[in-house]
Amino acid sequence: MNPLYVKVHGNDNVAIIVNPEGVAPGAEFPGGLTAREHVPQAHKITLGAIAAGAPIVRYGEVIGHALARMEPGCWVREDMLSLPSAPPLEQLNLATRPPVSQPPLTGYTFQGYRNADGTVGTRNLLGITTTVQCVAPTVDYAVRRIEAELLPRYPNVDGVVAITHTYGCGVAIDAPGARIPIATLGHISRHANIGGDPLVVSLGCEKMQPNRLLPFFEPNVIRLQDNRGFAATVAAICEQAEKRLVELTKRRRESVPASELVVGVQCGGSDAFSGVTCNPAVGHFADLLVRAGGTVMFSEVTEVRDAIHLLTPRCADEATARKLVAEMRWYDEYLGRGGADRAANTTPGNKRGGLANIVEKALGSVAKAGTGPIHHVAGHGEKVTAKGLVFAATPASDFICGTQQLASMNLHIFTTGEGSPYGLAMVPVAKVSSRTALAEKWPDLIDIDAGTIATGHMTIEEVGQQLFEYMLDVASGRKKTWAEQWRLHNALAPFNPGPVT
Ligand code: CA
Repeated sequence: MNPLYVKVHGNDNVAIIVNPEGVAPGAEFPGGLTAREHVPQAHKITLGAIAAGAPIVRYGEVIGHALARMEPGCWVREDMLSLPSAPPLEQLNLATRPPVSQPPLTGYTFQGYRNADGTVGTRNLLGITTTVQCVAPTVDYAVRRIEAELLPRYPNVDGVVAITHTYGCGVAIDAPGARIPIATLGHISRHANIGGDPLVVSLGCEKMQPNRLLPFFEPNVIRLQDNRGFAATVAAICEQAEKRLVELTKRRRESVPASELVVGVQCGGSDAFSGVTCNPAVGHFADLLVRAGGTVMFSEVTEVRDAIHLLTPRCADEATARKLVAEMRWYDEYLGRGGADRAANTTPGNKRGGLANIVEKALGSVAKAGTGPIHHVAGHGEKVTAKGLVFAATPASDFICGTQQLASMNLHIFTTGEGSPYGLAMVPVAKVSSRTALAEKWPDLIDIDAGTIATGHMTIEEVGQQLFEYMLDVASGRKKTWAEQWRLHNALAPFNPGPVT
């Protein structure tokens, strides 16, 4: 492969190296630039001289200032630039440039399970939810029994899910922050993929009683402290489970419009390619699904914060923009109380992958939101019911973001540069790689390779369209993602900003 870099924006004075082995000193690029030193793949090279104190520009945005003069063709390492301060929240343009909505896409459908509450499932699962971690091993034991002894007789049911978590007791349940994990777990317990109707297993003495987890709902509750011993409890769970299986197996997929899809998108283990390959491809997917009337949620506050000045103008109206700013402010204060700031986000893997800091990471992360207007902003723990492009506030932590998005989504897209085998038990998780090297290293974990965009073999639009058609197949059960095939089920991790007691 000839020396090759990707420059994203006309104003950029750095670009990232495409060649898997990096480039050697003296390597000449088409256009005349010569590498002065070895520059690894995904890392930045200076396109011209940059004076000390001058801005370093990628995506057309300042990602830092040079701490010393840099010559053309140099490797820009993370310690060679300063971290700019985050855009002030008081001076943002609110809904000043909402993009014009693109024409609707009609005729796209998938085969889904319609629920009484209007939601549509993409899988047919038996859900057993829990009010407290104390009961989790008992429920896990019962699920193994159900899988071995009952499920084979109900082949129309895709599986049994234990909705277990670390919340429920030993927490300040009346503190303001408690609303978030309780609401999140309540929504997950009535998820579209379990038909909205869970079995509930409670211990008995815990703080999060069943009516607190599921207000306005009369669930079928099995209370461990009411039963005589372990075997009787397991038998009771299995008996109730079989009653649910009899109902669930009657469900049939039917043709529903693509507008019933609620897709959560997030990234994990990002690298410098993420913002030019997988994330924009997911962004094009988002544009397509929104045009088809569906819902796309993007999240991860600390990966949005430094690009907020690009997002508030895109809000459909001023009230939505103000809500977006309020979510940023809430998280700034949350981090401040913990003695941290947004710079704590980047990982060693991000830096190995060429991302200098949180500004560069955020500019690439928000590409997942596509190019359309932001129609709605949802707070932490809020169930998203709006259509269109939605910012759903969550931490950027993969497992916490995934858990919060799970409250609303019936499909999940996860982009990755360094690689993560992430998966969830309740929804299909499709993984999109930022570079071809990862897709080749993990052919049985990565569902879609967006690295072909960097090498020029495919366009962002082509990969986005491929992903759109793939997700309709996955939603319909015609295809399974790798995470589903291997049953890779990460634990639920509800966000609890409230105190533990
Ligand atoms: Ca993440």
